[in-house]
Amino acid sequence: MADLPRMDVTARTPRLRERFQRAGCEALLVTGLVNVRYLTGFSGSAGLLLVLPDELVLVTDGRYRDQAAEQLADARVEGRVEVSPTAAGQRDLLSAAAASVNRLGLEAAWVTWAQQRSFAAEWFPDAELVPTEGLVEDLRRTKDEGEVARVAAAAHMADEALAKVLPMLAGRPTEADVALALEVEMRRQGASGPSFDTIVAAGPNGAKPHHRAGLRRIGPGEPVVIDFGARVDGYCSDMTRTVCVGEPADDVARRMREVVAESQQAGVDAVRPGATASAVDGTCRAVIAAAGWGDAFVHGTGHGVGLQIHEEPRVSSTSAATLTPGDVVTVEPGVYLPGHGGVRIEDTLVVTADGARRLTNAPKDFQI
Ligand code: ZN
Ligand code: ZN
Repeated sequence: MADLPRMDVTARTPRLRERFQRAGCEALLVTGLVNVRYLTGFSGSAGLLLVLPDELVLVTDGRYRDQAAEQLADARVEGRVEVSPTAAGQRDLLSAAAASVNRLGLEAAWVTWAQQRSFAAEWFPDAELVPTEGLVEDLRRTKDEGEVARVAAAAHMADEALAKVLPMLAGRPTEADVALALEVEMRRQGASGPSFDTIVAAGPNGAKPHHRAGLRRIGPGEPVVIDFGARVDGYCSDMTRTVCVGEPADDVARRMREVVAESQQAGVDAVRPGATASAVDGTCRAVIAAAGWGDAFVHGTGHGVGLQIHEEPRVSSTSAATLTPGDVVTVEPGVYLPGHGGVRIEDTLVVTADGARRLTNAPKDFQI
């Protein structure tokens, strides 16, 4: 994947600093690992990033000494990497680095109660700790070209994997067999793994939107909900298709499929800059409600996708977001009838200057 366009990682920290004043802090201790990765390129499983007005200090442990230095250099991020094997050592490094900070921001969503107590009493006793919300997440919402290319590459791998795996459904595999085959195919193409636990839900299991692939054998005539994605360079893709081996066993399944397909297409068509996320949700919901299944659409229409599989902006009735270019969102209405089954169809789209572009392109044929 050497041909993926570069991401401008160095531009991110200056934009973050611009937000400090309004958040009421002079510096920010970034404890969300996904946010550390976004700001520095560092992808290790342990690290704390102190964003000072004129310096970045990344503190990690010895396992990541070389990796941290390499990844910051690859991302062209200028930062000081400090290493200590113990929490006490890391505390001393960060207390010293933050010695001149009076108001230190913490990421409220990424700090435990125990951590906050220890930060206040032992790590930064002389600073006022300021809870902040969504400072890095808001920046992450708008993807640059390099980020979109990574989601698109992951989506393409998932498209290819599905095309390879669908024929095996005729051989009565288990849900788990199908999930494993999809994950193997995505890895074979260079994905670092699935972007979440692959969902394969056959027959009545389809009525549970987040059923995990189990040992049920996929029979002819029953709808199978397949929801999965790949991860490329940290970025996720997300796609759902509902298929049926042979003729659907009953008309309800056929009707569910028609209604959800119409709802999903209407939602996709509604994604454009200036549209509110709640309006996109309303568009999808209206089609399903008109068919009499409003109560059977039991989740929001979609979500942002990036370094996390679920991120801003949420596409739901209560979302306050207005879509803007660079948003990457899913549209995934569904109908779930307990005891019967479910149908969901999902695409991931990027909002462009004048509309939206679909990143997931697998065919949507119901009958296979
Ligand atoms: Zn999904
Ligand atoms: Zn999704």
